[in-house]
Amino acid sequence: MDALPSMIDRAALLGRDARDRVTGLAGWPALQARLRRLDGPVAMVLLRLDGLEGVAVRQGRSVVDTILAHATARLRGAAPSTAVLARLDRDAFALLLPGAQPDQAIVVAGRLVAACAVPFSVAGTSLTLSASAGTALHSGTAPDPDLLLRQATAALHQARAEGGGVHRFFKPGIDLQTRQHLALQAELRRALRHQQFELDYQPQFDILTGRPCGVEALLRWRHPEMGVVAPNDFIGTAEQCGLIVPIGQWVCRVACAQAAAWPGLQLSVNLSPIQLRAPGLVQDVTDALAASGLEPSRLDLEITEGVFLHDTPFTVMQLERLRALGVGITLDDFGTGYSSLSYLRMFPFTKLKVDRSFVAPATADRAAACIIGAMINLGRTLGMRVNAEGVETPAQLRLLQNAGCDEVQGFLLARPMRAQQISDLLGALGPTTP
Ligand code: C2E
Ligand code: CA
Ligand code: CA
Repeated sequence: MDALPSMIDRAALLGRDARDRVTGLAGWPALQARLRRLDGPVAMVLLRLDGLEGVAVRQGRSVVDTILAHATARLRGAAPSTAVLARLDRDAFALLLPGAQPDQAIVVAGRLVAACAVPFSVAGTSLTLSASAGTALHSGTAPDPDLLLRQATAALHQARAEGGGVHRFFKPGIDLQTRQHLALQAELRRALRHQQFELDYQPQFDILTGRPCGVEALLRWRHPEMGVVAPNDFIGTAEQCGLIVPIGQWVCRVACAQAAAWPGLQLSVNLSPIQLRAPGLVQDVTDALAASGLEPSRLDLEITEGVFLHDTPFTVMQLERLRALGVGITLDDFGTGYSSLSYLRMFPFTKLKVDRSFVAPATADRAAACIIGAMINLGRTLGMRVNAEGVETPAQLRLLQNAGCDEVQGFLLARPMRAQQISDLLGALGPTTP
């Protein structure tokens, strides 16, 4: 995601009178000049189309240009006749609403976001993108153009931080959150450069033999002042700014090299939806396998249902290309998404992980126990191995044994640990008997 000032810098590149070649729209200098002539309330809606970069890589610039031209027509159609539309950046538009009150601005911003959510048909295919919008309001006289843009940008950052596809208003707190968010991004970049990331490994156990059958690599950030930071506290930010791609490359490379020293154990590596959309992923996995010498069949890539929310055909193609390398594909956190069952038809996953939110209540709640039993049956009927995660009590373990689960993972059996502890565990257990 862009830093606040860079939006202004880049916007300034489009000249005052120059009209953008693709959309025919004016740029920031023209909008700035217009704002300086205003003397009353005004709203600025900043709108960004999400996912255009991926389209550029996969389908080329001309498809992007066609989408931008269609989007411009839709935005014009959704805006009132008094509005002024401009293109600020590669994939960002700004709309000025002179005289607008907050409720009018909300309605218009909602319409702009909805207009971009309708699939674009380009070159015989239908492409679904989403748009996020941030709005800033000026209520007195003489608006300050740079301040409005900065505030609308902060609101846009907030909309994108919430997953995109939504509209947010600027509030002072948002500015602070955005600044904290940008500071975290900068720290994450430093962390990658200074090798502050580490991997823990959580053993997974075969439910029949009770022996470790695999490990899940789990990322940690050893922060120089804050100590060890858990992935849930930084992965969202790393995803938003794209840093998850180099971080994920590092995870895959290090985990494969480590697991090569643990014969007989499967290695599970978590993949973020952003990584799955990155064009270099298949090559990165190929390189990590080649460099480590790890048999592809020993690597399982864990994805969550969220990967199917955008551009499903491309996602399925990526998964097929990964599968063709010989690696397994696991559907993680199964049951927590919106239409979990339909995802099972989209791709032949090799493993299903029953989310711990189903395991936790299973021994106290008959309905939860029935659902777990049905999930396990479903997975096995579809030819998948089934893992249940978050096993914390002996009663949960017994229930999963009786339900025919293949493998389990959870604090009852082992917490995530350092690589050396896995080696020690394997050493203490001795060689596996075939
Ligand atoms: P996840 O993939 O569902 O990973 C399992 C999480 O559950 C881990 O938390 C693990 O420590 C925790 N856990 C394991 N057993 C139990 C249990 O019995 N009870 C409870 N309450 N928790 C248990 P962790 O390590 O904090 O990871 C959180 C999430 O961060 C992961 O959830 C995964 O979505 C993400 N993550 C971790 N490493 C990576 C990575 O390398 N790349 C990506 N993209 N995401 C990662
Ligand atoms: Ca996982
Ligand atoms: Ca999980």
